[in-house]
Amino acid sequence: MAKLFFHYSTMSAGKSLEIIKVAYNYEVQNKQVLILTSQLDNRYQVGKIWSRTGFEKDASLFNQATNLVKLVSNLAEKPNYILIDEAQFLTKEQVIQLTEIVDTYGITVMSYGLKNDSFNELFEGSKYLLIYADNIKELKTECWYCHKKAMMNLRFNEQGKPVYSGNQVDIGGNEKYLPVCRKCYKEVTDFKQPKST
Ligand SMILES: [Zn+2]
Repeated sequence: MAKLFFHYSTMSAGKSLEIIKVAYNYEVQNKQVLILTSQLDNRYQVGKIWSRTGFEKDASLFNQATNLVKLVSNLAEKPNYILIDEAQFLTKEQVIQLTEIVDTYGITVMSYGLKNDSFNELFEGSKYLLIYADNIKELKTECWYCHKKAMMNLRFNEQGKPVYSGNQVDIGGNEKYLPVCRKCYKEVTDFKQPKST
């Protein structure tokens, strides 16, 4: 039976690699997979899912005006699975469209995204996925500064200092983010270079 999944995590928790892995596993079973990612995320090549491990995969783009039901109904060959990266950028309306894709078309939708923004508010897409998804799972990663579970995304300015206010979305800017635990979110004073692994 088709289901709507929401797998959430902080930044740098391996979401993109997970999507590439899931797509690969379905494709070797001759299943049709449609991968979608947000136009807002222009950190890497447009129309690609990219993982720090070096794997990448082509993806179709959505923006806030995309009607996802129309997008799917216009496809000559319906996919068996839809995988969505950057699902936090979906609108409420688009999350409801996903439920229609699952319930009417019988297509399983697996969405991946951040739960909270760097100021600890829910993203719109994540808020409604938490409400509408059949299955919710946390992809865990460790805090950049200690060994606790990362729960938050700490934003740093160009001087490497934490930023606690501003616009929700700053993708493509010079600001950086690190996954941190709740305690380090409050206490960290300086950016730390990512681990070299
Ligand atoms: Zn910590």
